[in-house]
Amino acid sequence: MTGDRDIITGNIDELRHRVAAAAARAGRDPAGIKIVAVTKTVDPERIRTAFRCGITDFGENRVQELVKKADIMDIECKWHLIGHLQKNKVKYIIDRVCMIHSLDSIELANEINRRAEKAGRVMDVLVQVNVAGENTKYGIEPGTTLDFVKEVSRMGNIRIKGLMTIAPLVPDPEEARWVFRRLRQLLIDIGKENIDNVSMEYLSMGMSNDFEVAIEEGANIIRPGTVIFGKRIG
Ligand SMILES: *Cc1c(COP(=O)(O)O)cnc(C)c1O
Repeated sequence: MTGDRDIITGNIDELRHRVAAAAARAGRDPAGIKIVAVTKTVDPERIRTAFRCGITDFGENRVQELVKKADIMDIECKWHLIGHLQKNKVKYIIDRVCMIHSLDSIELANEINRRAEKAGRVMDVLVQVNVAGENTKYGIEPGTTLDFVKEVSRMGNIRIKGLMTIAPLVPDPEEARWVFRRLRQLLIDIGKENIDNVSMEYLSMGMSNDFEVAIEEGANIIRPGTVIFGKRIG
């Protein structure tokens, strides 16, 4: 569908402008901000359109959907798991993703480590932090994140590369600013500990409704879906 293609192309254009403007406000280089396009419910043809516009990284929150799409896509795209991961599903994604954004328990870390070792690779992960303390959300509490990172750092086939959060859904993204700021501070604090096998390099935060505020607060991976592909049906 040509119409679809034009819309997605235009959306990505506009997104890049908004990313650049937010980066400029924060005195940052927009080239340092990676867009992970969230493709849940999006069909392969539309994903290909985004790829043709230069988007190389895609995110899924469900294992089954990620596996299906990663196997269909005939293009060189990189997949990120961004949603809660059940231990028994790690085996399906271990060869298919470049990064897991949603490490949220020691049990899960053990399983990722075990599967990664079997697959002969080191898996890059981000620790999901439940900054706002919402009980509907997964993630490590901010106060225990340092201890969690230290424990995972001893696992040889996992490399912690940073932190991720999902901000509360609020009508005005300004209300989420403190969440992003808090996560960035946590990244800095943990980075100062110089823990072996850990690099506090990536801050994955910001979705369609709040990515500009997230960038102003230091995000270098954003996860927009709707602004690229349109509203999800169902
Ligand atoms: C769905 C989802 C997104 C994208 O949400 P949009 O509002 O469509 O941009 C980003 N991150 C996670 C973890 C998600 O589940």
